[in-house]
Amino acid sequence: MGIVLRQVSKVYKTGEVETSALKDIDLTIKEGEVLIVLGPSGSGKSTLLNVMSGLDTPSAGEMYYNDLAIHKLDQRGLTKFRRKYLGFIFQQYNLLQNLSVKENIEMGAALSDHPLSIDEVMDAVGLTDKAKKYPSQLSGGEQQRVAIARSVVKNPAVLFCDEPTGALDEKTACQVLELLEKMNDLYHTTIVIITHNPSIALMGDRVIKMNSGIIHTVYENVDKKRVGEIKWG
Ligand code: ADP
Ligand code: MG
Repeated sequence: MGIVLRQVSKVYKTGEVETSALKDIDLTIKEGEVLIVLGPSGSGKSTLLNVMSGLDTPSAGEMYYNDLAIHKLDQRGLTKFRRKYLGFIFQQYNLLQNLSVKENIEMGAALSDHPLSIDEVMDAVGLTDKAKKYPSQLSGGEQQRVAIARSVVKNPAVLFCDEPTGALDEKTACQVLELLEKMNDLYHTTIVIITHNPSIALMGDRVIKMNSGIIHTVYENVDKKRVGEIKWG
């Protein structure tokens, strides 16, 4: 699915204090695009992802998934849409503690009309030998991989990732990236990734850098030779 944001803004009110976390964002993401979002802490990256994915409501603006105007959906319609079409990978993972690894992943598959093979996804994230374990018996990195598998197995049209490899060791981070690339290649999954990791940016078709609630810089067609041009700070 492609995504269009028109003049999207988000203001948080805490008591008397108003924070403009997003300011009139215009952004078009093509179906099958991998978009990387960079920017310093507090620049609005997570807000952009949360608003765009319907986890948080915009203060103003319009948002379309293909032709569907999601800013016009009520809460129930939005929840249904999210369950069916969107996948999320966050650093904090809410696994169901009383279900096994495989059962947690099956929960993800059950939400989809066209899930991927549970066994293949478990294999891709290196969890096959952990299928019968419970979350409390796994390390943090392994639990993160279960959460990723649960999102990916849905075969979502769009996958949103907020610092997906932040808490993972190098080897697991690579496995996760390979899985995301494979999803994009095989299923044309649209992927939006917030990251601080330069090697992830190389995966992107486009890199945008946020600053104070606006899209400050856009880098197109980033390749290995040009990754040095990106200012990370
Ligand atoms: P980033 O992900 O780039 O670190 P965020 O999107 O989390 O930035 O935050 C953008 C701005 O909005 C920051 O100033 C932050 O303090 C503020 N903010 C984010 N979430 C909330 C919230 N729930 N309530 C009030 N302010 C918030
Ligand atoms: Mg953030």
